[in-house]
Amino acid sequence: MPTRPLRSAEETADTASSTDHSTLVFSPPPAVRLLSDILPDDPLLMMGAGPVPIPDVVAHANSVVINHLGTTMSTIISQVKQMAGYVFQTRSEWVLGVAGPGSAAMEMAICNLVSADSKVLCVVNGFFSARMAEMSRRLGADVITYEVEGNQAASAEAVERAIAQHHPDVLTIVQGETSNTVFNRELPAIARAAKKHGCLVVVDAVCTLSTMPLQMDDWQIDAVITGGQKGLSSIPGVSLIAFSNAAWERINQRKTPNTHWVLDAKLAENFWHKGSYHYTAPVSGVLALHEALRLVCAETLPVRFARHSRSSFALQNGIEAMGLRLFAPPSSRLNSVVGIVVPDGLSNTEICAHISNRYRVEISGSFGLPIVRIGQMGEQCRVHNLFRTLHALGSTMRDLGAKVDMPASMSTLEYSLQTNPAI
Ligand SMILES: *Cc1c(COP(=O)(O)O)cnc(C)c1O
Repeated sequence: MPTRPLRSAEETADTASSTDHSTLVFSPPPAVRLLSDILPDDPLLMMGAGPVPIPDVVAHANSVVINHLGTTMSTIISQVKQMAGYVFQTRSEWVLGVAGPGSAAMEMAICNLVSADSKVLCVVNGFFSARMAEMSRRLGADVITYEVEGNQAASAEAVERAIAQHHPDVLTIVQGETSNTVFNRELPAIARAAKKHGCLVVVDAVCTLSTMPLQMDDWQIDAVITGGQKGLSSIPGVSLIAFSNAAWERINQRKTPNTHWVLDAKLAENFWHKGSYHYTAPVSGVLALHEALRLVCAETLPVRFARHSRSSFALQNGIEAMGLRLFAPPSSRLNSVVGIVVPDGLSNTEICAHISNRYRVEISGSFGLPIVRIGQMGEQCRVHNLFRTLHALGSTMRDLGAKVDMPASMSTLEYSLQTNPAI
């Protein structure tokens, strides 16, 4: 029952002129195509450098919206942190999510641990590791880059010399450099060397986490970042970060406030540890991430790593048997993303367009390098995806006029899988 008399229509019109839109002139809405007309009927197989295919349970979770605060969300957040702790192999409680791409997690690591009075040593292998240097520079830090040339992995000895020379507060390094498919296999020794000199270690594991070992605690890493859409086979847009206790202490002792409000770890702690508000979490994406992490835990890390290396080696063998060349030398070759030298006379743009249009398989070019890249992250490492992708790659090369040996390639893939059975 209303406690006051209802207002008449005239009174309403008088007092609420803001709801009378009859005098406003609107530009017309745009005429657009239906989403179903834009998206391919036959979904493309996502075999590039990310995003990667997602399992049905992840897709389903991504369609659910719940309250971003309250007991249901708290239970989910608590499980996401526990499972992420397993994937990072850390007992640190300072695991947090972030709304945004892998680069948002990267910026969260950098802007919380680096300020204008910091000295940062950035090991740069390529495009993504250079991004951490750029973010540090933008904070006004004194940034020294250690550039690794020629598709080599960073040498622990050389990095330790640079640390001893410059005494940085923070070292940044990528585990797998997606852009040129280089694997920094000496990461454990590099992290150990940095700790010996009292330097915090930030590791970009966006393309590698859950595809190969990364022992955050044992290797004494202070911040690990990852995205959703690569190794974890979740959606893009929700990422994870873990800080060590030493890193968290450094954050607590900051003398200047973080200039990035959204990425401030102490504010993020409100949501990720105290069940209260920082910003509205990307609820559906967090649910998707929960499911992706649950699948990693169910598979277990050792079994998942074996699946990834078996799949990637078989693919690499099949590519070489075709007559194509892999970009990175075996000593620094990344398994999570495989780089293939573009044959003479072809371009990576035409290869990527043809394999997508004709064979419905998406692969990636690269940032200025004459290579194409095939991802081996999460759901990409399934036997049926390997056969379809290798066949599509070989057929594309043949269609475009490159000489390839398809029968040798396909039988080598099969042989490689058979001689290296799944565990
Ligand atoms: C993909 C990737 C990034 C960037 O991730 P976004 O989600 O695109 O921001 C950073 N580092 C590495 C190693 C990557 O593979």
